[in-house]
Amino acid sequence: MVRADLLKVWASLLVAVSAAGVLTVAVLATGAEAQETGCRGQVVLDAGHGGSDSGAVNARYGLVEKEQTLDVARKLEALLEADGHAVCMTRTGDETLSNNDRYAYANSTGAEILVSVHMNGSSDPAPDYTTTLFGKWRKDKELALTVFDGLSTLPAADGAGTMHTRAPYSFASGVLLKSDMPATIAETVFITSDAEGRLLSDGTGARQQQIAGALRTGIEDYLDAH
Ligand SMILES: [Zn+2]
Repeated sequence: MVRADLLKVWASLLVAVSAAGVLTVAVLATGAEAQETGCRGQVVLDAGHGGSDSGAVNARYGLVEKEQTLDVARKLEALLEADGHAVCMTRTGDETLSNNDRYAYANSTGAEILVSVHMNGSSDPAPDYTTTLFGKWRKDKELALTVFDGLSTLPAADGAGTMHTRAPYSFASGVLLKSDMPATIAETVFITSDAEGRLLSDGTGARQQQIAGALRTGIEDYLDAH
């Protein structure tokens, strides 16, 4: 799930007002320390949300998007590094990062691509599909389509064939628009889905590994072609 940059700014202002600036300073300092400073890599992975921004939640299965995105991103990092790709992570713990933190970090790494890992959310426990988002058509479209093709191979959580899909679409996120390299937001699965909730919370990490594997396929297909 992604939200507009403007909401993020407004939330920061509220924090600043309510905590007399002290909390805001602490949050910004945490954000700066969270990143792998000086990292140079081929791929930047951005685990969506973090810290005070939980993202979507599946209360029934005790799942929080910020934790699931980091779990998948770490598994994906291991897969890519095992294949010889240097990876930089926007966060490796539970840090609060603004969209500005994320794209500024990505731009400092010299990476070829940026993939932001998310899970989608709905108030309805039924929907579950995979999709990817792009910012600038010319910059991001091919990466978004290739990562989408990889995700589309994911088995459906209910065991019937592969995941439902929604065609990649445009989304005005600073992470996409202000990053220098091709970038995409991967809305991998619906964390709010009952079927996904059962798999993601089974304690084995198998579903998270499956999602990481599908992302690896798309990322490596893209890198192989460039
Ligand atoms: Zn999200």
